[in-house]
Amino acid sequence: MMVEPAVEIAMGPDRMIVTIDGPAGTGKSTVGRELAARLGLALLDTGAMYRAAAAIVLDQGIDPADEERVVEAVAKEDLHFDFSKDPPSMLCSGTPVDDRIREQDVTRLVSRVSAIAALRTHMVRKQRIVAHQHPRLVAEGRDQGSVVFPDADVKFYLEATPGERARRRAEQMRCAGQDVDERALRVEIEQRDNYDSTRAVGPLRCPEGATRLDTSELSFDEVVDELERIVRQRIAEQTPTRGDGGSRPGRGAEGAAGAGEG
Ligand code: C5P
Repeated sequence: MMVEPAVEIAMGPDRMIVTIDGPAGTGKSTVGRELAARLGLALLDTGAMYRAAAAIVLDQGIDPADEERVVEAVAKEDLHFDFSKDPPSMLCSGTPVDDRIREQDVTRLVSRVSAIAALRTHMVRKQRIVAHQHPRLVAEGRDQGSVVFPDADVKFYLEATPGERARRRAEQMRCAGQDVDERALRVEIEQRDNYDSTRAVGPLRCPEGATRLDTSELSFDEVVDELERIVRQRIAEQTPTRGDGGSRPGRGAEGAAGAGEG
């Protein structure tokens, strides 16, 4: 996939939060990466953070039922992104874990670990700090528009049929040289959907005010083009024309990332 060089939005605001939520395999990460590149925004892959937490649990032999220990161990590893890399690299105590967090054992455990309420509180705080440091951001995950940035400038919710999502994941894995059982992949995706959408805290759902897009029949470029079109339209609506006093409608003084500190 080609990532275009960043094109700065000429009259864009200094704070622009775009959220992309949706279930596994809807292309949020690749679409989010390309959209961020086109708009000159940073990318926050929150799935990588929950995956890193699952990897810590596995690699340190922690019982995932011991929630206190899980949160303590994850906090100690001080998860961070290296934003000098494209896409940003997930660091665990300063060490990149990008390959480890895509392994099967992590994928199998991640939904269970990400249902821990105290871990979500920790992650939400970290994600808002990222937005404070990178206030022009595409944030993708399951709860970005609903919980983490409820007053984001633009919210998207991507969906696709389970069969299509399994097909896409299988293709990605084949390209990475991995063996694939597409039927097993579909079962795993549906189990993860079920887990992610029924948990008590931060469940997967379409955020209020989000634009829903079914990507089943769309190509990658068609999806990104549509998202880019909507964001640019929103920017045009929000950009003050000369002489109107420069106020931005629809955003409170607290801003998208304001609640994140503390
Ligand atoms: O997006 P990705 O498939 O990498 O996410 C992995 C898992 O992380 C999801 O299945 C979900 O359990 C969890 N997750 C979450 N909240 C987010 C992002 C991911 O619970 N904001």
